Amino acid sequence: MLNRVALFAALDGRIAEAARTGRILGVLMLRTQRMREFDLLFGYEAGERVASAMRIALDGALRTVDEVVQIGECDFAMILPDLHDRNHAALAAAKLVRTLQLPLDIEGRQFLAPAAIGAAVYPDDGADADLLCRHADIACAEAASGSERFALYASPELPDAFAHGDLRDAIVRNQLLLFLQPIVALQGDRGARAEALSRWTHPLHGAIAPEAFIQVAEQTGLISELTRWNFNVALRHAAQARDRGHPLALSLNVSIAVLQQPTFVEQVLGMLRFWNVPTELVTLEVTESGLMRDLAHCERMLRQLRDHGFGIAIDDFGTGYSSMAYLKRLPATELKIDKTFVLDMTRDARVVKLVGSMIDLSHHLGLEVVAEGVEDAETLALLRGLGCDHAQGYYTGRPLPAEAVLAALESGARY
Ligand code: C2E
Ligand code: MG
Ligand code: MG
Repeated sequence: MLNRVALFAALDGRIAEAARTGRILGVLMLRTQRMREFDLLFGYEAGERVASAMRIALDGALRTVDEVVQIGECDFAMILPDLHDRNHAALAAAKLVRTLQLPLDIEGRQFLAPAAIGAAVYPDDGADADLLCRHADIACAEAASGSERFALYASPELPDAFAHGDLRDAIVRNQLLLFLQPIVALQGDRGARAEALSRWTHPLHGAIAPEAFIQVAEQTGLISELTRWNFNVALRHAAQARDRGHPLALSLNVSIAVLQQPTFVEQVLGMLRFWNVPTELVTLEVTESGLMRDLAHCERMLRQLRDHGFGIAIDDFGTGYSSMAYLKRLPATELKIDKTFVLDMTRDARVVKLVGSMIDLSHHLGLEVVAEGVEDAETLALLRGLGCDHAQGYYTGRPLPAEAVLAALESGARY
């Protein structure tokens, strides 16, 4: 790669910025496909002329914040900060492919320089410059052999057998990351609160979706260790925040397999004692679908936890077999409406009614409500109007590395 050092230096800075702000960063790799023909037509200086014409075309199609780095004779990498989502990277790649389907003007001659473009995004497809570029390159190779000429990196399915070993190593070597996402009070001021979410970037495969590795952990028995890791790191940050004068309430996810362990209550109390965090600052989240698998036992365990002062949230509400009967039986303090409902609120008035009745139902049962997946101001306004108590979503705050959240708290950011 010609200008690898410059590209990596530019990318490192942008990645650090994206990690700080929680924004999505895109990397595009563009490879030109007819270089032999250019050489024959324009002689040995062909590369330079085609490259400068391409650069003008690319700059014209990109936003001013985007950066173009030449990495080969007629090959480019593009760094796109502040994307809305991964699809945004694919849209940009599609636009550039279309741009290069128009002939370039090279010294008065019209010339076609078709290209293939691969895209990868931070943090989904890799946590560092090297991995992001490799994945964008893989996508580019795929684009070159397909008909669309652009492709977004798709991570291969992780074979479970080795995923298990890798995940165990990652837990033991403390290579998972803890992200915190704010849970914002919509009525009144309640103090800072955040949900602890685990992140795993595989050394070869890049970021693995939490749903995927949590499932591997549950199937292989690693979930106890993962939970212990997640709780300890989250509590350490809460303790640190409190010591610096910024108390932070935590929501922690508990898999049903973990809740079923007879020693779970003792274990979690032990961790709280160790970090000197009171149970009143901790809400344990259990998914609705998990609860339904073993209702009687869950009910007993949750009651013990509730008696010790923990908050209990029913997570992903609406995706399982929601029934009034079990809601009444459970010692829950909070209900989290699944994001699939919240995401549809601005598109479908019936969903607004549905969410409204979930909120009313919860309030009747004495439960507070968190709406998950609040992605825009309009949804937030609707929820406020419906009397929803808390919001959690990309609009009110993306999940960020725990250190960044602590720094934000210290700088006086409201959570
Ligand atoms: P969850 O507990 O329902 O966590 C909320 C999920 O919604 C998170 O996904 C979060 O990133 C995502 N989210 C938040 N706001 C928005 C939004 O505005 N739009 C959209 N589209 N999504 C939003 P994430 O981090 O991928 O985690 C997925 C699930 O994995 C979590 O769902 C949780 O059930 C599980 N999980 C994550 N970490 C742990 C862990 O340490 N232990 C256990 N047991 N489960 C975990
Ligand atoms: Mg949760
Ligand atoms: Mg949820």
